[in-house]
Amino acid sequence: MCGFVGIISATEVAPLLSYALMAIQHRGQDAAGVITYDGRFHVKKSPGLAVSLFSDGYEHLPGSVGIAHTRYPTIGGGGIEDAQPFFTTTPFGLALAHNGNIVNYEELKTELSLRRRVLNSECDAELLLAILSEEIDRNSKECFSFDSLCEAVQSLFKRVNGSYSAVAIIAGEGLCVFRDPLGIKPASLGKRSDGTYIAASETVALDILGCEKIGDVAPGEVVFVDRNLNIFRKRLIEKPHRLCIFEFIYFARPDSVMDGISVYEARLRLGEYLAEQVKRFKLRPDVVIPVPDTARAAAVSLSSSLGVPHREGLIKNRYIGRTFIMPSEAKRRESVRMKLNPIRREIEGKKVLLVDDSIVRGNTSRAIVELTRSAGAKEVFFAVTAPPLRHPCVYGIDMQTRSEFIARQKTEEEIRRIIGADALIYQKLDDLVAAIKSLRPTIGFCTACFNGDYPTPVSEAVLKQIEAQRQRYQLQLPGT
Ligand code: SF4
Repeated sequence: MCGFVGIISATEVAPLLSYALMAIQHRGQDAAGVITYDGRFHVKKSPGLAVSLFSDGYEHLPGSVGIAHTRYPTIGGGGIEDAQPFFTTTPFGLALAHNGNIVNYEELKTELSLRRRVLNSECDAELLLAILSEEIDRNSKECFSFDSLCEAVQSLFKRVNGSYSAVAIIAGEGLCVFRDPLGIKPASLGKRSDGTYIAASETVALDILGCEKIGDVAPGEVVFVDRNLNIFRKRLIEKPHRLCIFEFIYFARPDSVMDGISVYEARLRLGEYLAEQVKRFKLRPDVVIPVPDTARAAAVSLSSSLGVPHREGLIKNRYIGRTFIMPSEAKRRESVRMKLNPIRREIEGKKVLLVDDSIVRGNTSRAIVELTRSAGAKEVFFAVTAPPLRHPCVYGIDMQTRSEFIARQKTEEEIRRIIGADALIYQKLDDLVAAIKSLRPTIGFCTACFNGDYPTPVSEAVLKQIEAQRQRYQLQLPGT
């Protein structure tokens, strides 16, 4: 999972790129990169947070079109050579960044190497760039046009299996955005009153730039804004939408709206549905406490559905990275205690119902239950807004090896004992889908990490390949 931004304007875009990228910093803290274009590409990449890209000002990033990216590592290591965006100058100038994961990466890489095309990184964005450049070149022999771009992206859709919401600079022509045919990853589009167009992974990036019109790139759609700020868009393929449901559980900012659904409202609904499960357990908690930050909204609605007070009993140190997106298990464990501190007064002597967004490996949940008990809780119940996670995500979330999932090998009762809770209540998968669909009935979701129903072809060989890559990457990390 990553965040991208693309901007085309009549004036310099670097300052706008910096504000927008910082608004989606939560989508990846591993590395950041930016490319602007003013007749040549200007590139800056840096490990860590987006702010470091712009620490010495904007002068070195001139141009009225640019793209930027914040990385959450999936395929590829943690090196700066794998940071997005990527650019190529042949057969013409093209720069690209994306959010997602290419499932047939190895197959396509081999195909390219047979044509002596070299990839200089392990990042699938470089591969997507290579394919887009081949296809634009093949389809624009005479001259570039929106029609030829549509032909190129149509061909790319046929070749590339996976999730990808991508933004690209086409040198001298404009800015292009496209979204995979199932729309697994989000992509929003906004326009400011001065004619500037902004594409981004989440609408929060558009809000902070003062966009007047905000919408989404449809699944299978290509959008092109030319250098005179004329917009062209076409849906190339119509398949049932399969948006990543995990965006609503965990990943997206609550103030974003994704494909017409407010993330905050979705989380409120998750709390209401989860309350029905809690009622079946006949528990009598004294207080509902969210595990900050993603479970906050769900805890509020759950507490009001149960008629139990809601309190902030665990306080987060904002300056420690999100546990889930720390790229190694050792770092994850270490960061839980550094990240959360209990308010003893809200917990001591009480039956506490903790609300969290998900359980992957169980280590974080165990540490949180221990922390709550150490603050004097009489009993600790653990409610989760997501159902049990059992299947790897091959589309870009860091859950890629089957052995990582506690729910794959253990029953709910065993998990309860492992995390040390007095009760464990999971959301049901049907309720998860119903809760979010209640806000937009026509939408469909990817739920593969819960039920193994992958919306694109995923073979056992691909799962093994991705697992091997993941394990190789973990071994390369210091401290694991
Ligand atoms: S497998 Fe899960 S995390 Fe991955 S895209 Fe599908 S719903 Fe999202």
